[in-house]
Amino acid sequence: MDLRNTNIARLENEAFDVLVVGGGINGAVTAAALAARGASVALIDAGDFAGFTSQQSSNLVWGGIKYMEGYEFGLVAGLCKSRNELLDSFPSTVKEIRFLMTVNKRFRFHPWIILASTWLYWLLGRGKTRTPGLVSPRQLKQIEPLINTAISSAGIEYSDAFLHDNDARFVFNFVRSALDNGCVAANYVKSQGANRDAKGHWITQAQDQITGNSLEISSRILVNAAGAFVDSHNALTGIETEYQHVLSKGIHLIVPQISENHRVLAFFADDERLFFAIPMANRTCIGTTDTRVDDPVTAVTGEDRDFVLSNINARLDLPTPLVPGDIIAERCGVRPLATRKRGDNSVDVQHLSRKHVIEMSEGQNHISIFGGKLTDCLNVGNEISACAAQFGLNLKQVDKWYGEPGGHAREAFFERARKLGLDEIVASDTREALSIRLWRRYAAQAEGMLDAIERDPSLAEPLIDNAGIRRCEIDYLARNEMIVKLEDYLRRRSKIELLVSRATLRQSAGLFEACEKLFGNEAKARFDEYFAE
Ligand SMILES: Cc1cc2nc3c(=O)[nH]c(=O)nc-3n(C[C@H](O)[C@H](O)[C@H](O)COP(=O)(O)OP(=O)(O)OC[C@H]3O[C@@H](n4cnc5c(N)ncnc54)[C@H](O)[C@@H]3O)c2cc1C
Repeated sequence: MDLRNTNIARLENEAFDVLVVGGGINGAVTAAALAARGASVALIDAGDFAGFTSQQSSNLVWGGIKYMEGYEFGLVAGLCKSRNELLDSFPSTVKEIRFLMTVNKRFRFHPWIILASTWLYWLLGRGKTRTPGLVSPRQLKQIEPLINTAISSAGIEYSDAFLHDNDARFVFNFVRSALDNGCVAANYVKSQGANRDAKGHWITQAQDQITGNSLEISSRILVNAAGAFVDSHNALTGIETEYQHVLSKGIHLIVPQISENHRVLAFFADDERLFFAIPMANRTCIGTTDTRVDDPVTAVTGEDRDFVLSNINARLDLPTPLVPGDIIAERCGVRPLATRKRGDNSVDVQHLSRKHVIEMSEGQNHISIFGGKLTDCLNVGNEISACAAQFGLNLKQVDKWYGEPGGHAREAFFERARKLGLDEIVASDTREALSIRLWRRYAAQAEGMLDAIERDPSLAEPLIDNAGIRRCEIDYLARNEMIVKLEDYLRRRSKIELLVSRATLRQSAGLFEACEKLFGNEAKARFDEYFAE
């Protein structure tokens, strides 16, 4: 039986300290933090892990410089602290990157004010990153010749961080760490609501979305980490809260790489919000928007596309302006933003705080997580652990429940990979060595891949054309990463779908072979299902 089926059987047959509903970033860190502290944890997601909002972010790990305009210095300082901790703990995944911000003539703030803000931001970030600086339009053009300096009065350089792979992979690695500490997790298992039994334990009714089978999961504590669905899930379980979500839609467009300059280009869009062109391997990811919506399920509209393309075209001197035909992939998601319940429903999402709120339902052993950011994830994991302890859960003290293995494990891996020649196998698009990529994606689990390459060096060869994946990865992925649909692999465990158009992907040699390894007899069905969408 594969990992997912084994875990679904265990979900039904075991009783847990905690059931976490939702495997986005908030649910994944909750499961990882509690499992590392010795709790018995179950984690379910109605779709794939990180299959909703957590796969649609800007991939920035940042203090949120723009929140300073709303004087949210406490939030920014907290996010910067979290960013710094992530930089230290995940050095292969979370990378410092330089931002080059263009300030247009007649912008509402003088460049000196923006420069002063970036210095304050740097200080709130405890001086962790490179210092900010002011650049003239002439220097701006020298650094990045594509910038349309005819409309700019100055440029500002400052630093923040971003996720080298992508948000969904970052989330999955927390799920992985929870699994390694005994968590029983399964994707495509949807909670349909929960009741408390006579002993006060939560009995959650759930359904396997692949087979249609129903199951019941028993837990002492229930954590609602359903993101944009937190309110609807609370309604199903009869939980009353002080907070609720309002939703703000944001989109990104991925286009061929506009510049080899490894910087985030930052602009103020027509709506005066910060707007980015972010490097993504050999592509550029442009966005985002911030529009209030009521329905969590959203799609990119023609208006969204026009907004992003017209803004970027106006701010860059591209050889030819970007048009919809240049779009390789699109991302579209909703930010669940925490707000107090009130009669007045006229909330302006652009000015709403991005702070997370954790609400405990006293006497009911229930916790709801509202809002949050990928950047805030370690705080969420720690705070939920403290809440669970308040509900009487006996948790052991751990120094640290997150982070890449460091020291000897890391050195030994790179030494062995070097001897196997993996430093010389360099990706043509990102120019990254295979040794680094394997470590960043799989950390200690990549040891097994080195064993495989040692036995059979052909396993270091590419498996799928245009996709960067090597043969040694596929068996590991099939056994350990709960890949149920082809999209789980192409979009979330990797980011291939964001870099390669579907038409090219369909023709890629090796893709069907990968499906055979991942899905066995169901290979054709999964392949056809993906390309039928
Ligand atoms: C456009 C955009 C850009 C952003 N950029 C950044 C950024 O650069 N940096 C940053 O730090 N943050 C960013 N964010 C914010 C960040 O992405 C979100 O705050 C975060 O991903 C929300 O995570 P979550 O776990 O709360 O929700 P989700 O990721 O949506 O997870 C909730 C999960 O619950 C599951 N679920 C729902 N109902 C049920 C049920 N009944 N049973 C089982 N499972 C269920 C869903 O399937 C889903 O997977 C951005 C957000 C957006 C939209």
